[in-house]
Amino acid sequence: MIVMKFGGTLMGSTKAIQHSASLVLRSTQHGEKVAVVPSAMSGVTDQLIKISASAEQGHIAFANDEISLIRQRHLNTAHELGASAESLTVQKLLELLDSLGQTIHGIYLLRELSARSRDLIVSFGERLSAPLMALALERMGVRAHDLTGGQAGLVTTDTFGNARPLPQAYERIPSRLSGLLDQGITPVVTGFIGETEKGVITTLGRGGSDYSATILGAALGADEVWTWKDVDGVMTTDPRMVPEAQNLEQLSYEEIMEMAYFGAKVLHPLAVTPLQERGIPLRVKSAADPDFPGTLVTAHPKGLKNGVKAVTAIRNAAIIDVGGAGMVGVPEVVSKIFDVLAGEAVNVIMISQSSSMANISLVVLRSDARRAFDALKSQFANSDWIKTFELWEDVAAVAVVGEGMRGTKGVAARLFTAVAAEGISLHMIAQGSSELNISFAIDETDAEKAVKAIHKAFSLERLEPSDE
Ligand code: ADP
Ligand code: ASP
Ligand code: MG
Repeated sequence: MIVMKFGGTLMGSTKAIQHSASLVLRSTQHGEKVAVVPSAMSGVTDQLIKISASAEQGHIAFANDEISLIRQRHLNTAHELGASAESLTVQKLLELLDSLGQTIHGIYLLRELSARSRDLIVSFGERLSAPLMALALERMGVRAHDLTGGQAGLVTTDTFGNARPLPQAYERIPSRLSGLLDQGITPVVTGFIGETEKGVITTLGRGGSDYSATILGAALGADEVWTWKDVDGVMTTDPRMVPEAQNLEQLSYEEIMEMAYFGAKVLHPLAVTPLQERGIPLRVKSAADPDFPGTLVTAHPKGLKNGVKAVTAIRNAAIIDVGGAGMVGVPEVVSKIFDVLAGEAVNVIMISQSSSMANISLVVLRSDARRAFDALKSQFANSDWIKTFELWEDVAAVAVVGEGMRGTKGVAARLFTAVAAEGISLHMIAQGSSELNISFAIDETDAEKAVKAIHKAFSLERLEPSDE
């Protein structure tokens, strides 16, 4: 049994959906059971976020125009896939589109948009695309049935915009889907969205369809989870930035998690966690070249001679620096700082602390930076602990990742020599105790230059397989 996930590009047009459906057919033809997890059609999630913000601000005409575009795109696709105006698929799409229009009108009237209503609105992207995938499969002779994440048993926390699966999901999903699979029906489950115990729609965070697929895979005890992509697999760096980037044949769960965490957009950072606990392999595969093996992610990947496997960058970061002699020898300061940031729901990407403890630097996303900085200032301004507060925006966090770095001497020297040779200055450096990565912060304008120089310094454009 395989769970297959298709991202927005692979759901982006009639042709793309038909091609994606044909990739499912390749497996079902050989008697394989498949559950399918589609994302929204490309760009639709962004459009829905814009629509909800404009409705909140009173720009209802813009919102309605965008809804019309979404409506046309989905109805045209259904038509091109062979659905008649009276078909159940078209009826379902029309109901969803109506409901989207009404929800947006409600936001407009109230001029109020909560995280909970935003999740409801963005959920329409996947709820509209899943019936199209089911239709394309049926047209190819694959019996299929579309469900929302909630209908499929994906119960989550109520942390809207960033929900997490509840333990019950792992029992409920098989109880909802095994019957279909046993009858030879392919469930098509909306990516990205779940439901609270009370039946309120939630989302798993941007890029969350990868995570939906792995939750399903773990719950169903799948043999493998395949995320089909518009790239060859996981690459040594973002191929859009460095065209010489190479496909990585094998990675460990930890390595891909580190890469995703430090900005490799190819997978949701938490996506492998459900698989890791159960030892289920993940394959990142190329939709354009389905016979190419892509990247296999397991607990024990075959190694590469090279210690460093990949380099990633998070642009749009910022550094917050706090300091003061009063921090020395006061362990509560650190926990207080993290309490304040947690209270503001700010995720800290990197931390470094001088050994005297008189200074702590934190890298956060730029979108969180001002809020985090103001909160820290208002909490500590009148304390004796922290005296200086500084905020640098326009920062990038760059990381090199690879398990082979552990015990390989000279990685840091080679890394920072390459960066220095480009005349790039470092604002801070951190290394995880796992020695799986070394990360550092630089000016955002230097990010591309740094990534390219590091890619070259470690010869990532010609990785040598190990003899293991
Ligand atoms: P999907 O919609 O299928 O989830 P995404 O657009 O989220 O696809 O992720 C795939 C994209 O991630 C690729 O087009 C590529 O530009 C980008 N990317 C960034 N870093 C990497 C990397 N190290 N390996 C592969 N792709 C990467
Ligand atoms: N459609 C969602 C997004 O754009 C989820 C996903 O594509 O994985 O974030
Ligand atoms: Mg994605």
